[in-house]
Amino acid sequence: MAAHIIDGKAIAAETRAQLATEVAAFKNETGVIPHLAAILVGDDPASAVYVRNKERACEKAGMKSTLHRLSAETTQAELLDLIAQCNNDATVHGILVQLPLPKQIDEQTVLDSVTPLKDVDCFHPENVGLLAQGRPRYQPCTPRGVQVMLEKSNIEVAGKHAVVLGRSEIVGKPMAMLLVQKGPVANATVTICHSRTANLPEITRQADILVAAIGKPNFVTNEMVKPGAVVMDVGINSVDGKLVGDVDFDAVAPIASAITPVPGGVGPMTIAMLLDNTLTAARLAAQ
Ligand code: NDP
Repeated sequence: MAAHIIDGKAIAAETRAQLATEVAAFKNETGVIPHLAAILVGDDPASAVYVRNKERACEKAGMKSTLHRLSAETTQAELLDLIAQCNNDATVHGILVQLPLPKQIDEQTVLDSVTPLKDVDCFHPENVGLLAQGRPRYQPCTPRGVQVMLEKSNIEVAGKHAVVLGRSEIVGKPMAMLLVQKGPVANATVTICHSRTANLPEITRQADILVAAIGKPNFVTNEMVKPGAVVMDVGINSVDGKLVGDVDFDAVAPIASAITPVPGGVGPMTIAMLLDNTLTAARLAAQ
């Protein structure tokens, strides 16, 4: 039987509509408009598109967004100065620094300089620590998007073997943390794989839920997937001007029980989760 295709676009639209209702109620109650400050350094076209999409999504949900565009020659000190201004601006609730940053700027120093209360990407060590301890302040956007898709698709996670392919700080590690923690849509037995993992197909074939986040087009083939597995494809790769995931969709869809497409799968969920965190940030500030 062909896999159920998990429609990330539809789930994201539903999540954003629900958020818009919550934002309206919050504004009524407090008179405060949740406000995201986005910082874009340089002229990477893909980053510019991502930031524009985030701004539009904010506006549609009734939130305010401010874009700070800095030139590719910006120094680290100048960027840190802008972040300090946003940290100190009480009308700003969330701060997003679009990655990647130009070579002259140290990414870790910059991300660490965002005050944890406004760190809606959940990159600050304090927020990562809270997440690791199972008491998150913010949810990491892409992994949380995957978790919401599992929830909305009524996929049982507790007790299942989840294999996460990739150990990045942005996707792989926090994905594993969300799935292993106690709570709803979690309680999985989790294995994390990376480029040094031996016998990779042997491990991925054990997965009830396989999350692919490695950035290699069509890497996961049908031989790497157990029949009936749930396959969540985080990868976004451009091949001959076409977007493809880390999973060979045409080969894997016939044997999986559920699968996310690329595009239209995990991608749209990331922005929805960023908005959710921005509303949380505004709520925390109002407390
Ligand atoms: P990174 O490059 O930071 O990490 C890739 C991970 O994959 C690393 O842990 C790496 O291992 C591992 N890896 C690479 N090659 C192999 C291999 N042959 N076998 C096993 N493991 C391997 O990528 P990100 O986590 O940032 O992103 C992953 C993908 O997800 C990309 O395509 C990216 O574009 C996409 N993405 C999508 C988002 C969305 O909104 N849908 C958001 C963020 C990312 P090692 O650590 O050993 O190097």
